[in-house]
Amino acid sequence: METATHCPYCSLQCGITVRPAPPRAPVLEPADFPTNRGGLCAKGWSAAELLDHPDRLDTPLIRRGGTLAPATWDEAYARIVDGIRASQERHGNDSVGCFGGGGLTNEKAYQLGKFARVALRTAHIDYNGRFCMSSAATAGNKAFGVDRGLPFPLSDIARAEAVLVVGGNPADTMPPAMQYFDAGRAAGATHIVVDPRRSATARGSHLHLQTTPGTDLALANGLLHIAIREGHVDEAYVAARTTGFAAVKASAAAYWPDRVERITGVPAADLRRTVEALAGARSAMILTARGAEQHSQGTDTASAFVNLALALGLPGRPFSGYGTVTGQGNGQGGREHGQKCDQLPGYRRLDDPAARAHVARVWGIDPDELPGPGRSAVEMLDAIGTPGGVRVLLTFASNILVSAPDRNRVRERLRALDLFVVSDFFLSETAALADVVLPAAMWAEEEGTLTNLEGRVLRRRRALDPPAGVRDDLTVLGELAEKLGRGKYFATDPRTVFDELRRASAGGIADYAGITYERVEAENGVFWPCPDETHPGTPRLFTERFSTVDGRARFVRVEHRDAVEAPDAEYPYLLTTGRVMQQYQSGNQTRRARSLQTTAHDPRVEIHPDLARRHGIGISDLVELRTRRGSAVFRAHLTDAIRPDTVFAPFHWGGGASANALTDPTLDPHSRMPAFKACAVALTRVAGP
Ligand code: SF4
Repeated sequence: METATHCPYCSLQCGITVRPAPPRAPVLEPADFPTNRGGLCAKGWSAAELLDHPDRLDTPLIRRGGTLAPATWDEAYARIVDGIRASQERHGNDSVGCFGGGGLTNEKAYQLGKFARVALRTAHIDYNGRFCMSSAATAGNKAFGVDRGLPFPLSDIARAEAVLVVGGNPADTMPPAMQYFDAGRAAGATHIVVDPRRSATARGSHLHLQTTPGTDLALANGLLHIAIREGHVDEAYVAARTTGFAAVKASAAAYWPDRVERITGVPAADLRRTVEALAGARSAMILTARGAEQHSQGTDTASAFVNLALALGLPGRPFSGYGTVTGQGNGQGGREHGQKCDQLPGYRRLDDPAARAHVARVWGIDPDELPGPGRSAVEMLDAIGTPGGVRVLLTFASNILVSAPDRNRVRERLRALDLFVVSDFFLSETAALADVVLPAAMWAEEEGTLTNLEGRVLRRRRALDPPAGVRDDLTVLGELAEKLGRGKYFATDPRTVFDELRRASAGGIADYAGITYERVEAENGVFWPCPDETHPGTPRLFTERFSTVDGRARFVRVEHRDAVEAPDAEYPYLLTTGRVMQQYQSGNQTRRARSLQTTAHDPRVEIHPDLARRHGIGISDLVELRTRRGSAVFRAHLTDAIRPDTVFAPFHWGGGASANALTDPTLDPHSRMPAFKACAVALTRVAGP
C-alpha cells in the first residue's frame, strides 16, 4: 500500500510516496505537492535508505564503566528518572534542561515544551532552531508582529518581477524550489544574489553582490540610502501602513554608496542597479537566509532588509514582500509551539500573564506552576557545571556537538553534566557522549504534522512500523512523565496531542485552532493563522494590516558595526560556513546514505587561487584552518567563486573536519544567535593530496 507523506529533511517538505518493499527498505517516489511539483533533490531520493541502515539504533544504551552498553527501556527510564529526581532534590528544578530540534513534528515540539514545564517544572528548554531561524524570527516579530518565514506561498516567487536573495543558496539547499525562480526569470524577472560566494544560485542570477562576510547590514542601509535619494520610497504606503520611518531615513543618510562600497566590497554601481531593479518592478521580493542572519548582528541585519522592503512598499503587495527561507524540516512549526526558552504554544510569550493563564488552562495546571523564561541554547550549554547551570540534559533530535558553535567548549560542557540523555536514530557524535541513548522512530514510522517554510501545515504519515525496540518521542515523553508522577497531563497519540495544540494555540499569533488532520489531508495543507474550522487559512499575510496592535509595520533603526572578530596579523582572513547540496544539517543522517556517498564531497574548504598560491596550497591538499577556538582540517578546493579574503567551510561534519570547532559563539543580543558566519581564521597547508 502506498502512503503519501513528505521528505524528512528541509523546510520545502517535498511531497513523496512511500511503498513498503520488505525485506528491503521501502521504495520512495516524488509526489505532485505544491512545493516540489514532482521534483526531489538527491537528499530526498536517498531518505528511504536510512530506514533499515545497519547503524540504526534499536535498543536503549546505558553508559556502564565508560562504555555504552545495550539496556532495556525500563533500565533506561530508571536511570533517567533517578538522575532527574536526585538532581532536582539537591539543586532545584532548574538543574534539569531539555534541548529540542527543528526536525521534531509539531506534536513533539509542543509536547517537549510542555514536558519541560509541566513534568520537569524547569525553565530551561531551548532548541537547535536558535542556531538557525532566531534572528529573522526576532526581526519579523519586531516589524510585523509575527514571524512566518514566507508570508506568501512559494509559487509567488515565480510571479515577482524582481527578487533579491541575501545569504541563501536554494539551488544547492532546496533544488526543487528553483523551478519557481526559473519560471520567474523565464518570464523576464531580474534576480540578484548577495553572497560572499558565487554560489549555484548566484551563478543563475543577473547580478551577484559579493559582500565581505558580516557586512550585509551596511549593504541594506546603502540600498535604502539610494532608494531615498532617488525618490523610490513609496510615500503613500509608508504613511498609511508603517511607523518609524523618519528615524530610519535619518540613519540611512550616512550610508553613502562609496562608504558602503568600502565596507561591503560591492561596487556602488551595482548598488544602484539593485535599487533600480527592485524599485522599477511592479512586484518585488527580498528574501534573507542564514548567510545574512547567523551573525552577532543578525537580527539588525534582517531588520535592515525589512526596512528596505517597507520603504519600497513591498510587504502585502501582490507577489511581493520580505521573507526568510527557513532551513530545517519543521523550522517554522518547531519555533511556534513552546520549545523556545521564552515562548508558549501559539507563539505566546512566557512572560505575558494572559498567555500563561490561557496555556495553563489548556494544560489543566495553575498559571503559577509555569516556570518563567529560561536560558537560550548557547547560554544553557555554556552554564553547564556552573552554579545555577543545568546538570541533567535531555536532548531530542539534535546533534549539538556538530551544530553548536565552538565545538571544543561545548564538548567540555557536555562532559560536565551529571546525566546526559540523547534520543536519536543513530549514534551521533553527541549521542556517543551520552549516559543514556534512546532509539527513536524515524519519519516514515510516525504520524504527525509539520509546518513548512510557507507556514503551510502538512501531514507526516506512517508508512511502516518502527523496528522492534524503537519508540517514538511522544511515547517516550508520556512514559517518562508517568514515572515522574505527571502522566495524566500527557497524551501519546499524535492526533490527541495535535487537538490539544490547536486549543493551546487558539487566539495566539500562530493560531492552529481551525486546522484538523482531515483538512490538511483534503486541502494539500492549511496555512496558519486559521482561527476556526470554517476559516480558509491564510496563504498571504499583511494584505490589509500587519499583526501589530495598531496594524502598522514598524521600521527599526539599525546601524552597521564590524564583525566581532576582524582579521588581524595572527588570523588574517575571514571564515564563513554553510551547506553543500548532498548533506543536511549535522550530517548525522545524510553522511550515512550510501547513494549520497557516491556524489558527496569530502569536507572541502573553498579557497581562492590567489590566497592558495600565497600559502603554497595546491588542488586537494590538506589544509588546517585555525581560529581562536580550535582547528580543523579540510581538503582544499581552489575556486575563484569565493572572495580572496575569505574561506568557506561546510558545517556537516564532526571529528577533525568540524567547522564548528572554529566558529565564534558570540551571541546576537536580540535573538541569541551565535556568529556562525564570520570569524577570523588562519590557514596552513599540512599535506599533499
Ligand atoms: Fe525537497 Fe528539501 Fe527533501 Fe530535498 S531535502 S527533497 S528539497 S524537502
